Amino acid sequence: MRLNIACIEGDGIGPEIVAEARKVLDKVALVYGHEMIYTNILMGGASIDVHGVPLTEEAIAAAKAADAVLMGSIGGDTITSPWYKLPPNLRPEAGLLGIRKALNLFANLRPAVLYDELADACPLKKEISSAGFDMMIMRELTGGLYFGERHTTEENGVRKAVDTLTYDENEIRRIAIKGFEIAMKRKKKVTSVDKANVLDSSRLWRKVVEEVAQNYPDVTLEHMLVDNCAMQLVKDPAQFDVILTENMFGDILSDEASMVTGSIGMLASASLNDSKFGLYEPSHGSAPDIAGKGIANPIATILSAAMMLRFSFDLDKEADAVENAVKNILKKGYRTIDIMSKGCTQVGCKEMGDLLADEIN
Ligand code: NAD
Repeated sequence: MRLNIACIEGDGIGPEIVAEARKVLDKVALVYGHEMIYTNILMGGASIDVHGVPLTEEAIAAAKAADAVLMGSIGGDTITSPWYKLPPNLRPEAGLLGIRKALNLFANLRPAVLYDELADACPLKKEISSAGFDMMIMRELTGGLYFGERHTTEENGVRKAVDTLTYDENEIRRIAIKGFEIAMKRKKKVTSVDKANVLDSSRLWRKVVEEVAQNYPDVTLEHMLVDNCAMQLVKDPAQFDVILTENMFGDILSDEASMVTGSIGMLASASLNDSKFGLYEPSHGSAPDIAGKGIANPIATILSAAMMLRFSFDLDKEADAVENAVKNILKKGYRTIDIMSKGCTQVGCKEMGDLLADEIN
């Protein structure tokens, strides 16, 4: 299969971690008989330095022409970098918001997995973490409270601010379909999270999710109120497979789920549109404090590349091979500095990429 991949290396550690993800993808191509075709795109600070803007029309066109986008991370030190003296619409982050909008990426996926070998980094009690967990938070990304009408007024000296939370059934249906499709590739359970005891938008959410569920009889659907879900994530995270939720609830819950894994350098993510197209990137930032030192953990980006194989190309076997390589290398005791623990062997970014590529055969 020919895989047309647009690569955004970005800023800070971005180029280092994307190089290792490409190394692993190249090994997958070699072992499984695929062809990887990469197109480099400038975005963020790297684009500002060359074009004066964080995202150009040419970059958007190149991304659209690809089957998927693999990204490192964008942005610099927000205090010292000259990029942050620019107006907000010209700063690195504007590039990311711009590309998400241009590509209509409405579904955000963030896996939260506890690896046995990294269980010590988990802040939960041993009796809870010992059950392990492997969940996918599926968050609606382009609707709801963050995109609703808002205004601030002042009447008789009293200031008042209004934000509106709107969803129509089509917005809910398309993310619900994605959620059920992803559950079909996993443990076939969807927990739909809402606040249906209070909000009309949540009651519509629940109805539409139930309608979509009719087409997926193999998937178990349960509903959970968002406040309960926040508690369950720290009380019994092993119960979850796919958590399906709207924009703001997903924003908060996905960060909570990430933090219970305890290791920022391991967290992958994907943003999808209604075709197979997606943008895949680690959940962490560009880590300017360690850029160029060769010590960044490339695993989050490599696991993002595995998600790309699975969700944009339906190459499940190849994605499994990458994910198993990560598990095996951790089992063998290799660690980058951010996940280092006593008795393990510390390696740099490049060595971790080499080890993972060698593990795929
Ligand atoms: P960060 O995630 O870049 O770094 C937080 C801490 O985690 C740092 O100490 C860093 O060294 C460490 N870290 C992060 N990734 C690591 C890895 N792979 N291996 C080892 N250590 C790692 O967050 P920040 O410092 O708040 O932000 C830095 C820049 O990144 C800012 O400009 C911010 O806007 C940007 N950012 C970009 C994205 C994105 O591109 N999607 C996301 C978050 C932050």
